[in-house]
Amino acid sequence: MNTGIKMLESAKEIIKKSAQGLGLSQEQIDRLIEPNAFHEYNLSVGKKIYKAFRIQHNNNLGPYKGGIRFHPGVSREEVQALATLMSIKCAVAGLPYGGGKGGIIVDPKTLTAKELETLSRTYARAIAPVIGPTVDVPAPDVNTNPQIMAWMIDEYTNWANKTYKSNKTNWKATFTGKPVAIGGSLGRTEATGRGGVAVLMSLLKKLGKDPKKETLTVAVQGFGNVGYYFAKIAEEEGFKIVAVSDSKGGVFVKDGLSVEATLKCKKEKGSVSGCYCRGSVCDVKNGKTITNSELLELPVDILVPAALENAINLSNMRQIKAGIVIEMANGPVTEEAYEFLAKKGVFVVPDVLANSGGVTVSYLEWFQNMKNQKWTEDKVNKKMESLLADAFEAIWLKTKKKKLSIKQGAFELAIERIIKGKI
Ligand code: NAD
Repeated sequence: MNTGIKMLESAKEIIKKSAQGLGLSQEQIDRLIEPNAFHEYNLSVGKKIYKAFRIQHNNNLGPYKGGIRFHPGVSREEVQALATLMSIKCAVAGLPYGGGKGGIIVDPKTLTAKELETLSRTYARAIAPVIGPTVDVPAPDVNTNPQIMAWMIDEYTNWANKTYKSNKTNWKATFTGKPVAIGGSLGRTEATGRGGVAVLMSLLKKLGKDPKKETLTVAVQGFGNVGYYFAKIAEEEGFKIVAVSDSKGGVFVKDGLSVEATLKCKKEKGSVSGCYCRGSVCDVKNGKTITNSELLELPVDILVPAALENAINLSNMRQIKAGIVIEMANGPVTEEAYEFLAKKGVFVVPDVLANSGGVTVSYLEWFQNMKNQKWTEDKVNKKMESLLADAFEAIWLKTKKKKLSIKQGAFELAIERIIKGKI
């Protein structure tokens, strides 16, 4: 079975289970599972044809929202699963958005810069009739970035001005994750990591713990955008970061490492795994190289899988020693492992809440564009943190009231909001 089909089955399964927990009818469950619209395209660029998708899952709460992925592994089922999970994530975060997702089956690394631009523009023209600031608002995802959004917004604006015969200034609100110079928001780059730390702080408050008053150790798997900013912001909040890793392996420093020094070293050596030395050779003292599996099994207070899906699974779930797991990657803890850990009393904060800082700042970018405003980074961060604190509180109340895991609580809350059409 391909991974897209598996992802889709598991997204449907958890929605069904949560909807049954809420006592919804079969008709309501079917409506929640089936997307509103599938759009499939065959895009011609040069002599090649690329298969592309935009799937709009649900818009009960507002315009569809979700990224565009360029990857050879993209499939209709994968895009559908991701669109479904975006409906849940936006509802969990309390955003006035539904869920959508787009993708092109392509390995962008095989394209020249010109071909990448042409493909991006061709895709934007193809989806133009079904998107718009109050209809569907795409964003970057795997292998797409602010530059690609800039090409797409340029193409869309030309199309919309001609088609709707109106030079609306807020056409730019049709895409988020744009470069700041053309209407992107400050704070977007760090948003997912920063949001994860905000959610962790909300959980710790409930547990009566404070990183400024006691030592709380953290291990982070993945040192890319999400893992690096999570580690950096957690360090600023007073947590002791004892381990980080990337695809080549990890480093463990019992007394706590310096996130900046580790990043500097990774840039020089190409990986964090060589980043431990003694004395004056580097800033990270008394560290040792560890594998990615060893990192997951460390006796830390907080474990942060921020790299790949299925990192914590049937084969290693019994070795997990952390009391709190923050799912910063998408789907890093499998269903079986989630249930096992939750039963054991481990607090596992699900991805739909933990990594929703990114989409929350995308919403704030859209909001600024719609109102022709430009906020300071501090204002963006504070607003995002307050939205996530509200989201956490609503889920916590639900989990306590019905004795649910945080994931079940998050899905039930999201489904209730989608059915009501109201946050
Ligand atoms: P990234 O490409 O910037 O970083 C990924 C990191 O994971 C890199 O350090 C890479 O070396 C490491 N990695 C790859 N394979 C690994 C392995 N086998 N073991 C350990 N580390 C490995 O990606 P990112 O933007 O940081 O995204 C990470 C995860 O977070 C993905 O699951 C992504 O879907 C999810 N996510 C990202 C965002 C966002 O705003 N960037 C938002 C929501 C969810």
